Amino acid sequence: MSDAAVSAQSITKIFGPTDGGLRALDDVSVDIRANEFFTLLGPSGCGKTTLLRMIAGFETPTYGNIILDGVDITTEPPFKRPVNTVFQSYALFPHLTVAENVGFGLEMRGRQKKEIAGTVEEVLALVRMEQMAGRYPSQLSGGQQQRVALARALAPRPSVLLLDEPLSALDLKLRKQMQIELKRMQLETGITFVFVTHDQEEALTMSDRIAVMSAGRILQIGAPRDIYNAPANRFVADFIGESNFLPATVADAGSVTLGNGNTAPAVMPAGLEAGTRVTVAIRPEQIDVCAEADGLLAGTVAELVYFGTDMHAHLTLGDGETVVARVTARSEAALEKGGRTGIRFAPGALRVVEDDA
Ligand code: ATP
Repeated sequence: MSDAAVSAQSITKIFGPTDGGLRALDDVSVDIRANEFFTLLGPSGCGKTTLLRMIAGFETPTYGNIILDGVDITTEPPFKRPVNTVFQSYALFPHLTVAENVGFGLEMRGRQKKEIAGTVEEVLALVRMEQMAGRYPSQLSGGQQQRVALARALAPRPSVLLLDEPLSALDLKLRKQMQIELKRMQLETGITFVFVTHDQEEALTMSDRIAVMSAGRILQIGAPRDIYNAPANRFVADFIGESNFLPATVADAGSVTLGNGNTAPAVMPAGLEAGTRVTVAIRPEQIDVCAEADGLLAGTVAELVYFGTDMHAHLTLGDGETVVARVTARSEAALEKGGRTGIRFAPGALRVVEDDA
C-alpha cells in the first residue's frame, strides 16, 4: 500500500473496444505526495486530462487502480471523493453572486448557513476577491472569474484539488501573476494540487514535481530543476526548455568524440561502450562563443535573433549540423551574420540522451 496522497497504479485507458481501441494511457503509474504541487505536463493528446479525470472519477480506467489516502477509489463516483476540479472554462452560475457561487457546493453538502458564510469569506480572502462578494459573474473580468472558480473549488476543503489548464484563457501577464498566486494558495491551504498543462514554463514555475508525458506514457518524474538539468531522454530535453542535439561517439565513460574529431567531457548513463553512436543534448545557454581557433567546434553564423535581454545565434557547423547558442549582450559584438566563430561548452553541458523509442 502506498502512502502517497494519490496513487495511480498501472493505469491503462482504452477508449472504444479494448481490443483495437484508442490507448490514451498505457500502464501509467505515479505517486503524488500529500501537500505537493504536482504537474502533469505534455503535448496535446498525451493523456493528461484523461489521467486527471480518473482521479476525479469522471472516467474509469480500463486496467489499474486509483488509490486516495490509502483507499482504493477506482470505482467510487466523483461526488464521494474528497477531490474537486477547476476546469479551463470557469462554469460559474450566471444568476448567482460571487458569494453564492462559492457557497453553492457547501449548501449542497447540507452545511449550516453560518458555517457557509464563514468559509465563503475565508476562501474569497484567499483568492483576494473579498471586495467582489456581491457581484455577478458578468460583472467580472476573466481573471476574476477564474479566482471565483478557484474559491468555489477550495471551499469544501478537498484533500486534492485538480486543475485542468485553468490559466490558459488568461493573457500572458495575468497568467504569470496567477501562477504565483496559485502557488501561494497551495502553500497557504496545504491542499495537494494536481495541475495539468502543456506549457513547460508554467510547469517549471509552479511545481514541486512534474511528470512529463508523451503518447499515453510518463517519461520522467522529478523536481523542475532535475528535469531541466538531467532530462532522461531526447523528448524531455526537447520539450522542457530548448536543446540542441548533436551526433557523437562514446570515447570513454566520461567523454564523447564530436563530428570534427574533437573530444569533450559528457555526462552519460553507465555501461555505454566506447565507439557507440549517441546523441548529445546541449542547452543554448551552456554554449559560449569564442575565437574560432579557441573553439571545440567552429561554425558560421547563419542567423542572429534578438529577443530583449539576449540573442540567439544560429550556427552552421562544418558537418552541416546546426546549433543555437544563447549570447549575452556582452559577447554579441563579436558576432556578425556570415562570420566565423568558435564554440565551447560549460562544464557538464554535454549530456548523452536516449533517442525516443
Ligand atoms: P489536451 O492538452 O489537448 O487536452 P491531453 O493530453 O489532455 O490533451 P487527453 O484529453 O487525455 O489528452 O486525450 C488523450 C487521447 O485520448 C487523445 O487522443 C484523445 O483524442 C483521446 N480521448 C480523450 N477522451 C476520449 C473519449 N471520451 N473518447 C475517445 N477518445 C478520447
